Amino acid sequence: MVKKKIKLSNRQKKYRKYLNSKEWEEIRVELHIVRGSKCERCSSKKNLQVHHLTYDNIFNEELEDLELLCAGCHKSEHRPIKKKKRQISFQKKCKMLESKEGRKRLKKLKYKF
Ligand SMILES: [Zn+2]
Ligand SMILES: [Zn+2]
Repeated sequence: MVKKKIKLSNRQKKYRKYLNSKEWEEIRVELHIVRGSKCERCSSKKNLQVHHLTYDNIFNEELEDLELLCAGCHKSEHRPIKKKKRQISFQKKCKMLESKEGRKRLKKLKYKF
């Protein structure tokens, strides 16, 4: 676990550096030209940020991997996934509590309320 954490922060450091690099600047400029310098969701022209649809080609992105979003759309793009996940799992747990088998399974998972 500890090793994994170190790896991740190194990657994050590399990514931060990359966001300040000439290569990334060029990709961003190209993206703005191709997509018309507006949010691809709501057409806002304010606070535009680049969203990664995939990190498969990170440090060597294709324009197809990226989406131009305003700050608001970018935020909501990242937020609801987490929320949804938590909600679903919570509802699932509640459902499991309603049945004997579910409660047994929760015990097995050592789930604490
Ligand atoms: Zn937007
Ligand atoms: Zn993003």
